[in-house]
Amino acid sequence: MLINSLPIQYRKFSYNRYLLQIVIQFIRHVVEGLPENLLYIILRYFPYGRYDTNEELCLLCAGIACKKSRMVVSLSNTLFVSSHIMREDTFLYNEFGSYLRGIFGCKVQKITIDAGFTCPNRDGKVGVGGCTYCNNQTFNPAYCHRNRSVAEQMREGISFFAHKYPEMKYLAYFQAYTNTYESLDVLKQRYNEALAVDGCVGIVIGTRPDCMPDELLEYLAELSKTTFVLVEYGIESTSDATLLRINRGHDYACAVDAVQRTAAAGIPVGAHIILGLPGEHREELMQQAAELSRLPLTTLKLHQLQIVRGTRMAEEYVENPTDFHLFAMEDYIETVVDYIERLNPDIVLERFASQSPKELLIAPDWGIKNHELVDKIKARMRERGTWQGRVYSE
Ligand code: SF4
Repeated sequence: MLINSLPIQYRKFSYNRYLLQIVIQFIRHVVEGLPENLLYIILRYFPYGRYDTNEELCLLCAGIACKKSRMVVSLSNTLFVSSHIMREDTFLYNEFGSYLRGIFGCKVQKITIDAGFTCPNRDGKVGVGGCTYCNNQTFNPAYCHRNRSVAEQMREGISFFAHKYPEMKYLAYFQAYTNTYESLDVLKQRYNEALAVDGCVGIVIGTRPDCMPDELLEYLAELSKTTFVLVEYGIESTSDATLLRINRGHDYACAVDAVQRTAAAGIPVGAHIILGLPGEHREELMQQAAELSRLPLTTLKLHQLQIVRGTRMAEEYVENPTDFHLFAMEDYIETVVDYIERLNPDIVLERFASQSPKELLIAPDWGIKNHELVDKIKARMRERGTWQGRVYSE
């Protein structure tokens, strides 16, 4: 097949790369049983074999696959991705790891920071008692203590990974409570303290949609010109009735406004969603996927509703367990796959589940680790021959 006969979107593939494919095919025929890993390394690191973040290589035909069109251009044919073999599962959905690798060119790890902030839904400014499901102890790793400085937490987190992955870079993840709920001076000091740590290449700021003043947004927009900044909003649900019931203290319109203002400022925006909140069943969740797909989101995290000790929801659950539909694992996997099919294929998916510490978790206890659940979701997607955005309509 000649390059000129390819559809326009494939013509960026150079003749050199085309030649490389011929060489690879030749080697595959001469060296019987060429290990796929070796082939992958040749393709990945050979100067003409590099590809951009929207491309992947088929290990069967050395063809180059385009994520957007889901087509593979090989020496002999142009075919749908499903008839080829990809080393990575990037064709099932947009993976966060690949997204970061595309930006930084290496493996990047988030280090969770507790910067000592509080939350307006706890201190009385917006509400008291917090969201009914919230127990902040569930998401702080051991090295993350609010009595340590941001820099200390970063360094300790980095030292945990650095011996194993010396080339790795790090993002400071301001996760606990509301990480934009302070004076601008204090916020600047905390963010910059993290950024000054060796190996830190950016910050991820978790916050509430009602806590992003224009002044801070302007500062973050300026900061994002020199370093990576991602703002992650806890949206949790697109239903105002649900948001009221879980005492979020803001409505969905507030989340839409925050996401749109942040994206308009040129900052990548993430969203966090809980699947299975009371009153939200399959139909509502499928509509939610379509609704979120209309927002200018860069990343999305999903997780299953968990009933955690020390929360108001735990009391409600004990009083009235039938009011809750807690997912069985297989049911959750099926729902997530349905959800992903409806999502805008441009959104990067960072997480599908959360794992509260065993001693805090009341239900559901699936007894598997997050990465095992991700493997099951991928396997189910392959089984169903589906991918992110398969039934997405703009
Ligand atoms: S989930 Fe976030 S916003 Fe809600 S109470 Fe907890 S820290 Fe505050």
